[in-house]
Amino acid sequence: MAELPDKRTAFIDWYLAVVEQANLSDKRYGVKGMNVWTPYGMRARRHLDRIMIREIEATGSQAVEFPALIPAPEFAKEKEHIKGFDAQVFWVTKGGLNDLDVPLVLRPTSETAIYPVFALWVRSHRDLPLNVYQIVNTFRYETKTTRPFVRVREIHFFEEHTCQVDEAAATERVRSNLAAFRKMAEAFGLPYLSLRRPDWDKFAGAHYSIAFDIPVGGARTLQIGSVHHYRDNFSKPYGIVYEAADGSQHHPHQTTFGLSERLLGAIVAVHGDAKGAVFPSTIAPYEIVLVPIPSPGDAGATGSLARSLASRLERAGRRAVLDDGDDRPGAKYYRWELAGVPLRLEVGRREAASGNVTAVDRLGRKTTIAIETLEAGVEERLTAFDRDLRAAADAAFRDAFRVASELGELAGSDRVRVVGWCGKEACGHAIETAIDGALLGVPEEGPPVAPGAPSKCIACGESTGVRWALAAQPL
Ligand code: ZN
Repeated sequence: MAELPDKRTAFIDWYLAVVEQANLSDKRYGVKGMNVWTPYGMRARRHLDRIMIREIEATGSQAVEFPALIPAPEFAKEKEHIKGFDAQVFWVTKGGLNDLDVPLVLRPTSETAIYPVFALWVRSHRDLPLNVYQIVNTFRYETKTTRPFVRVREIHFFEEHTCQVDEAAATERVRSNLAAFRKMAEAFGLPYLSLRRPDWDKFAGAHYSIAFDIPVGGARTLQIGSVHHYRDNFSKPYGIVYEAADGSQHHPHQTTFGLSERLLGAIVAVHGDAKGAVFPSTIAPYEIVLVPIPSPGDAGATGSLARSLASRLERAGRRAVLDDGDDRPGAKYYRWELAGVPLRLEVGRREAASGNVTAVDRLGRKTTIAIETLEAGVEERLTAFDRDLRAAADAAFRDAFRVASELGELAGSDRVRVVGWCGKEACGHAIETAIDGALLGVPEEGPPVAPGAPSKCIACGESTGVRWALAAQPL
């Protein structure tokens, strides 16, 4: 296998090489940007989904699944939304040999599929709140360079859609989504920013959008999810109406919460290193790999011991894989390090005779675990591994930002920049031009990412109070 490019100096090349060599995704399918989920990638995806489902259902959301095809007239009902999406959709115009009377859109997102049905489901205030989510594939005709997990045309997509009694209740739902995402990100070991996007960059049709971004090297960031408050922007055109207790009629206020396979790309991007992918145990396709170290005359004894230890770990609820192939141990270490498995257990004859195995975590730390208390030893190593992996990600996150006080500092920046911004659109665009990227928005929650947050607008010099924003080049 080819050596990996340098993560710091050639991030994109490094990322693509890791995804390919770790066999997380196969890009050789015959449609650009539509990639094949490999067995190994699917294992990671399942854990991603499991964590998303656990956290969203804990907030009272229920799973649904809507069809993938949307009639064109439904798709066109909310005019801001259609403006934002019509250049990105795949159309279905034929059924067999016949032209369809009503052309169909392959969902790029599901507002326009779901809301005509919400109009049937929502009748009374007793039907609210209505909180449902689905995990489906969405399709976008992406014209830029596609990249596995990060920019694709067929997207493994999580989307929550809700109806609330009024604007304040919808704001509460946004808060609840932000809290749910905090727990998901905790499980993924991902530090991130929650930023309220400037108006010109909000989701098409939204009242406002809050996006989650992570720094991925230099001045680049990656958006890994978003929450939107729609007010009644969709419930009006889609005729979603409920009757209040006093008999009056109202449009519910709506919210959405979107995540995708991009989270898997983010996990690779943030935790990966010079040896390949690194998965926190929460999402790792396998948490533990067992490698028997054969020695002359052991007649397969280390192999059968390794097999029995793997079974013990499986019975304890661990995801363990046994690599008892013919390759030399060194080649196996290399392969499983590339694949990002958190913990390797080496089962050698001498250690086994003294009742131990050697444990090496993906941060390179070597210890000994007593076979008698294997389950507890593994638990302890994985807990320490997750904690220290997160600490490393936090340290890199803290180093990713720099305050800028002059527009001239933004060009060619090697960090995501913290800038004062008065909130005026003209100043926002001046900042975007200066950094040759985007004004990501104003922090919604959480502590400041850089000390000495600026109090004056970097573009016009007006006082901004405590308001500041992040500027970066989206990946
Ligand atoms: Zn300004």
